[in-house]
Amino acid sequence: MAGTCKAAVKVDIEKTEIREFELPRIGDNDGILKVESSGVGGSDPEMYRRENTAPCIMGHENVGTVHALGDAAAKRWGLKAGDRIALHEYLPCWHCEWCRQGDFRLCMEADFFNVKDRFNTVRYGTCNAEIPPHLWGGFAEYMYLAPNAVIHKIPADMDARHATMAVPLGNGVQWAVLDGGASIGKTVLVFGPGQQGLGCALAAKAAGALKVIIVGMTRDRTRLDLSLELGADIAVDAEQEDLEKIVMAATGGRGVDVVVDTTGDPDGSIAAQAIALSAKGAWLSLNGLGAQVPVNEIKKRYLTVRAPRGHSYKAVQTALDIVASGRWPIDKLCSHDFGLDQVHEAILATAGREIEGAIHVTVSAGK
Ligand SMILES: [Zn+2]
Repeated sequence: MAGTCKAAVKVDIEKTEIREFELPRIGDNDGILKVESSGVGGSDPEMYRRENTAPCIMGHENVGTVHALGDAAAKRWGLKAGDRIALHEYLPCWHCEWCRQGDFRLCMEADFFNVKDRFNTVRYGTCNAEIPPHLWGGFAEYMYLAPNAVIHKIPADMDARHATMAVPLGNGVQWAVLDGGASIGKTVLVFGPGQQGLGCALAAKAAGALKVIIVGMTRDRTRLDLSLELGADIAVDAEQEDLEKIVMAATGGRGVDVVVDTTGDPDGSIAAQAIALSAKGAWLSLNGLGAQVPVNEIKKRYLTVRAPRGHSYKAVQTALDIVASGRWPIDKLCSHDFGLDQVHEAILATAGREIEGAIHVTVSAGK
């Protein structure tokens, strides 16, 4: 494929510059994507701050149009040039037991907990841009479609920025519904009203949950208000309101059936609250358990505890189906859109720095 393209490259800690790359020469099994829009993930500000991860073309919530495709790839993916797709960030083996059930996130080749050197292992949005054919991230005009890419076809009329919600909303579907069991009659508590937390609230309500309660801080007021349009029944400002009182009043003193923590919970304090607010037999997705694992409380309440991590194929497809249904005001999640020359601002905005009010931020190369 002749020609060049521009990409925003992280060249140092919190420093990005535009560089030019040759478009890859493709074979039978791969292709090239013309990037329409790439979402800035909740983990991207941390990635942007991290040492020893440059040069890197970030952007792992990718949506675009198939620009060129090898014959075998076209057959295998059921795609042709001009089709629109959304991609996972994973580049898995496709042969292990996890890949065979669509849980690419747990594949030994794609799993961050297995990979020794993340930066030098190919994965969209986080790897070394010096690894050929270089175009591994969505903050670019074009991206390389590797033979082992995980692809979802999207409708011709789906807004590309809405489609970038496939990953954060897919996480919500995974953690609250497929893992947590949010469904008809269940009560759900979500900590953190960021893009993942809002995704959890929306997914839980779309699955029929009876009551969805979302918790944030005073600084999250806009997100908490928005959550009420995106599936939450009750939005709690934990700094101003009594969370326990509200949860117990909403559940008839029983506690909630499903908890998802999307905050990171560095000191285990969310976990302690989550356990105290759980009904017997509840399912919890937690990011910490504090210094001492509260086995007695887990036993007393007969809880199931897991930590949230990534999304399956089914979760992302369900998220895209939810977007396509038009039943939810997805546009309200898409708060900011930046051009390729403003990737730095887009990542800072996601971290709430310099630009306020971000919920889900996108970079659209053609902007
Ligand atoms: Zn695998």
